[in-house]
Amino acid sequence: MEMDLTLDLWGVENPEEELEKVRQQALQCTACRLAETRTNVVFGEGNPRAPLVFVGEGPGEHEDATGRPFVGRAGALLDQALRENGLSRKHVYICNVIKCRASVVENGRVRNRPPYADEITACHQWLDKQLTIIQPLVIVCLGAPAANTLIHKNFKMTQERGIWFPCHYARYAMATLHPAYILRQEGESYQQNYRLLVQDIAAARQKVIEAKKEPKTTLF
Ligand code: SF4
Repeated sequence: MEMDLTLDLWGVENPEEELEKVRQQALQCTACRLAETRTNVVFGEGNPRAPLVFVGEGPGEHEDATGRPFVGRAGALLDQALRENGLSRKHVYICNVIKCRASVVENGRVRNRPPYADEITACHQWLDKQLTIIQPLVIVCLGAPAANTLIHKNFKMTQERGIWFPCHYARYAMATLHPAYILRQEGESYQQNYRLLVQDIAAARQKVIEAKKEPKTTLF
């Protein structure tokens, strides 16, 4: 079944324009040290009226090079899991907690590193503006770091994956496995974890359908 993409009555009037204004501001951002090493600010992309938003931790090498979120192997796996649920990027919005690549040079090679707390704090202004404009019904956090920011601190993926939580920016939020984590698994473990990702996206899709039938007053 095609996901209903009609503008929700509680949405901002012109989310495309509002989001583009914020994106243009974010592209100039120098609020933390990551501005010094990034190639591109990876703001996020997708449908500004999407009822379903995916939030990951931060851009990696390919994202930094292209300025687009989830474009490497992890992005391809996410696209595949979306397709299995009859969804594509035009149905959803995808972004990250931080907008610039966090990296470290080791043995002459640039590697990803987790963002520091002060970088996450500095960047929250952009995620806050994004999600406030989009006003999704459902947020899916990809990996524990995004869940730590949007659901609660010290999120335990093994115990809390796939569970629905209240969220400041959406009626419902849950966390699922990050596609990059799944790609590090092998054999049966890879298959099992990938099925969990597909299953969680299916649950999120269903949650959107249910949430659309709920009265507006329960939004926050
Ligand atoms: S990571 Fe966020 S706060 Fe830091 S420079 Fe990039 S956009 Fe600005």
